[in-house]
Amino acid sequence: GFQCGIVGLPNVGKSTLFNALTRTAAAQAANYPFCTIEPNTGDVAVPDPRLTAIAKVAGSANIVPTRLTFVDIAGLVRGASKGEGLGNQFLANIREVDAIAHVLRCFADDDITHVDGKIDPIADADTVETELMVADMESLERRIAPLRKKASGGDKEAKAVLPIMEAALALLQDGKPARRLELHSAEERKILDGLNLLTAKPVLYVCNVDEASAATGNELSTRVIEKAKAEGAAAVVISAAIEAEIAQLADAEQAEYLESLGLDEPGLDRLIRAGYELLGLITYFTAGPKEARAWTVVKGTKAPGAAGVIHTDFERGFIRAQTIAYDDFVTLGGETAAKEAGKARDEGKEYVVKDGDVMLFKFNT
Ligand code: GDP
Repeated sequence: GFQCGIVGLPNVGKSTLFNALTRTAAAQAANYPFCTIEPNTGDVAVPDPRLTAIAKVAGSANIVPTRLTFVDIAGLVRGASKGEGLGNQFLANIREVDAIAHVLRCFADDDITHVDGKIDPIADADTVETELMVADMESLERRIAPLRKKASGGDKEAKAVLPIMEAALALLQDGKPARRLELHSAEERKILDGLNLLTAKPVLYVCNVDEASAATGNELSTRVIEKAKAEGAAAVVISAAIEAEIAQLADAEQAEYLESLGLDEPGLDRLIRAGYELLGLITYFTAGPKEARAWTVVKGTKAPGAAGVIHTDFERGFIRAQTIAYDDFVTLGGETAAKEAGKARDEGKEYVVKDGDVMLFKFNT
């Protein structure tokens, strides 16, 4: 599955947030036998009201949401790139995730020490990013010299990779993360991804605000959102303390508590969805009397690849896919009605799956 790593300086609220996520996951796990929970990994359902609507229309007995994994990556301190603290382990853990949720302390609380002695989320973001950039620069410098030799010896692959490496290094030396690199083709994107740089991963800033600012945000989170906009990054405002409380409540109490705070859904739901978007993921559905289920694919996936998410046999023997757009499925009242209205399309191997498609695969076994 796809993994989103939670990082940030000590005492910014990472564990509080992660525990809220895993408590939610644990509550869900009772209904989903295949959900694994490891100490630092939480496998959470992606909230999607469309799935409930589809199940209602299709008369499905069960609802199975799609899932996203969050990993708690503790241990970042200044100097991590030099191996301080759990530095090397920390960097190795980040290398394994697909995207980064970067928690920033946007709450003032005199009882909770800040490692640098002041509440400044922008400075904190820079501290963390600097460690990652230093690690990337060192990794590139190590790899560039032998690659230059290969390239001058005529090695084709080295010749293709080298300019991207050099451009990334120049950008980092200019104080910018590798994800800001301007790419001109899918091949260049593939080369950059292949370098597995820490700062090439997409970033979501998680502004952890005080309880009173959960619905509105505050002056600090506003600054983070401005920073995110300027960088083309994503940001969400959340109060980890509130999320921790919400995660302990029963559903009915949750709704009441949320309303009293002026929130229309748990912040975790927004966080999970933002993580999903950050990873470039979309959802398609399958619906029948037994279950309505959501499945995850990367944007741009074609029908056979989408079928392969259910089972590799579906991809191997793919013939075609019956596809109904979500709106048609729900407004017309299900598969039969959509077919009668001419809204069920037969799509072949080249069809690019759209978010919300309700699909039925025909395949050879
Ligand atoms: P971590 O080191 O980043 O994992 O931070 P923790 O989750 O352990 O949080 C550090 C301290 O900040 C704990 O005492 C939390 O209770 C507190 N904390 C976390 N989030 C909030 C919040 O939204 N508001 C307030 N007031 N305290 C918080």
